[in-house]
Amino acid sequence: MPATLEYLRPQTLGEALMLLRRSDVRTVPLAGGTWLVPRLRRDVEVSDPLADRVDAVVDLADLGLDGIDLEGEPGVGWVALGATATLTQVAESLICREVAGGILAQAAQRAAPVNQRNAATVAGATLSASSQSELLLALLVLEGQIVVNDGEPRAMSLHELLADPGQLAGGLATAVRVPWPAARVGGGLARVARTPGDAPIVAVAAAVDGAGRRLAVGGVAAAPLRLHLAADEDLERALNAALDGVELLSDWQGSSEYRRALALVLSQRALDAAAG
Ligand SMILES: Cc1cc2nc3c(=O)[nH]c(=O)nc-3n(C[C@H](O)[C@H](O)[C@H](O)COP(=O)(O)OP(=O)(O)OC[C@H]3O[C@@H](n4cnc5c(N)ncnc54)[C@H](O)[C@@H]3O)c2cc1C
Repeated sequence: MPATLEYLRPQTLGEALMLLRRSDVRTVPLAGGTWLVPRLRRDVEVSDPLADRVDAVVDLADLGLDGIDLEGEPGVGWVALGATATLTQVAESLICREVAGGILAQAAQRAAPVNQRNAATVAGATLSASSQSELLLALLVLEGQIVVNDGEPRAMSLHELLADPGQLAGGLATAVRVPWPAARVGGGLARVARTPGDAPIVAVAAAVDGAGRRLAVGGVAAAPLRLHLAADEDLERALNAALDGVELLSDWQGSSEYRRALALVLSQRALDAAAG
């Protein structure tokens, strides 16, 4: 880590925002640290080091943002996951196990080994996620929003934030939330990884409700691919059209052709799980 890295642990949201807004000290939020801390160390080789670009970290642990709650009423309310709730809390939450076939809880459980799940947080896992993160895919397919406070609280859709992460600059994510459905929403996840403990090569989350079928496909392009299928729309045709519109990933884990083939098989599996 930089010799002069400043560690700050505010007790209130207002104090945290004030520290993050200092123009003369490059300050970033610190949640579970599982992504950030290795990047602040000089003795660890990482692909995107931050040690020369960060002067101070603001630890969010004492801000009381770790609840998992139902807000409002079904149909108009939210399933709200506090920014600093850990992946273990999400995996064990009865609310997260219940909503949309429990895909939020399942995705959190699969995201990382137990010691990492105990530290990594909802906001950290969402904001630093790779395109094949099943938690991110589950949040996207459930039309997730992120609640940001940069002086005033505001909510924005998660996919808008992913398209333009600059919208978060100087602000703090205080929660990630998905609509609290009035009627049943089916949910399903499907993945292929080299081993059960590895991050997936390609992963898919699906949600099925009265409005149709929604898919989020990760590991095929730099960002997750989102599809909304009408009740009678052909999956293969719609998926191929969407894949034709993006630059497909290809690396040692799988060629673009392999990922395209997996995307179709896994989309069908995730939809079957959601319908079941
Ligand atoms: C060995 C290993 C394996 C991993 N495997 C996977 C995997 O399979 N799938 C996967 O998706 N990830 C994986 N990760 C990545 C990592 O676990 C996640 O990205 C992690 O969930 C980050 O959460 P955190 O709370 O530790 O965030 P931190 O590391 O504390 O922060 C991550 C980033 O988010 C920002 N941030 C955090 N909270 C907020 C907030 N409230 N508001 C604004 N900005 C915020 C931080 O400033 C930082 O830029 C792996 C990491 C390791 C070390």
